[in-house]
Amino acid sequence: MNNPLESARQQLVNIQAILQINPNIFERLLYPDRMIEVAIPVKMDDGTTKIFTGYRSQHNNARGPYKGGIRFHPGVTREEVMALSMWMTWKTAVVDIPLGGGKGGVVVDAKGLSDQELEALSRGYMRAIYPLVGKNRDVPAPDVSTDARTMGWMLDEYEMLPGECSPGVITGKPLSIGGSLGRDYATAQGAFYVLERAAAKLHLGKESTIAIQGFGNGGCHLAHMLEKSGYRVVAIADSKSTVYRSAGLDVKEVDEHKRVTGTLKTCIGCEKLPSEAVLSLPADILVPAALENAIHRENAEAVQAKIIVEIANGPTTPEAEEILLGKGVTVVPDILANAGGVVVSYFEQVQNAINYFWTETDINVKLKEKMETAIDAVWNEKERYNTSVRMGAYALAVKRVAQAMQDRGRG
Ligand code: NAD
Repeated sequence: MNNPLESARQQLVNIQAILQINPNIFERLLYPDRMIEVAIPVKMDDGTTKIFTGYRSQHNNARGPYKGGIRFHPGVTREEVMALSMWMTWKTAVVDIPLGGGKGGVVVDAKGLSDQELEALSRGYMRAIYPLVGKNRDVPAPDVSTDARTMGWMLDEYEMLPGECSPGVITGKPLSIGGSLGRDYATAQGAFYVLERAAAKLHLGKESTIAIQGFGNGGCHLAHMLEKSGYRVVAIADSKSTVYRSAGLDVKEVDEHKRVTGTLKTCIGCEKLPSEAVLSLPADILVPAALENAIHRENAEAVQAKIIVEIANGPTTPEAEEILLGKGVTVVPDILANAGGVVVSYFEQVQNAINYFWTETDINVKLKEKMETAIDAVWNEKERYNTSVRMGAYALAVKRVAQAMQDRGRG
């Protein structure tokens, strides 16, 4: 199974078998509240007009405004965006922030666009979804191939129409226009706190070895944090290859080389392997930080790690997870492990609302507390229902969302 929406729905079906929440609420949670498709015309540099397809899925707002990133990727589909919006609902609930779940995407290879075309596309997307977004309605943020610069253009476009400042409408903004310190690496920072807590629960220490699939915003920041704190990062993969060194890689060197050349470097004692090899190399902890469905039925058996910490959204298919659980692998799910980004997005909104900005230390202290509280609560649920960590996280999240739906009379 590799349709992310089927995976997302299957996970909800699985937890419903344990929780037995109100069936009317369960039924509603299988679908987004609203899903829109937009056509975005962009005047290309060669003078032609190209139409790009974009989506915004608003899954649930029972606990607060819809919240979720915008992905620019050629593989974006309607189903993928719907699945990602559902995962956002659970994510904001797991870390207990007053937000719901949404997600956006545009079918585009952003690397093939000039800066002007990318800006026109970002502004066009915001214009197209303008009636649906707002700081109390739906709050977008960056995701794959979008960043602070893209958010800056989108905020500017949003504010131009009513002619008033509204920084809380979008998060992951540049610092100069209301962004938060620590937001650029928050997903990795949150994953780091969760990874450390999970490793401690399983009695794994700093001698643990780590393999990371994906060397972008999430994977690269995490690799640096882990190395700095004493772990051995033995494998790193991007979409083209894996570099592996059992004694540990020099993350700074790998990063610098990738920035300059766009490729992963082979160093002394390193092996350069196919991209997918990263999943099956000897490492105690595996961090998928690329795209969904990376670990599936055909490759799950080969995974050697004891813990998987999912920075990517939906990197493990339900079938793969069954195989992994059978092998005794602990999978720390995306909705917990990668929630650091949305937590700091929430902090960004709070700072925008009070118009007062916290220090980087303030942010990271608050983030650590949120992430550790969340993983402990998830572990309690896992033990209460004698289930996996993912199902523990789902139990916590779905009960919280269902309670909010019930309290609103949406049952
Ligand atoms: P990114 O675009 O910065 O980086 C993605 C990385 O994955 C790149 O290094 C790319 O080369 C690599 N990659 C792509 N396909 C691959 C493949 N088949 N094998 C190996 N590597 C591959 O994206 P990101 O922001 O780091 O996001 C990565 C994942 O984390 C996504 O699933 C995203 O939804 C999730 N996530 C990101 C954030 C965030 O704040 N950035 C927050 C939550 C979740």
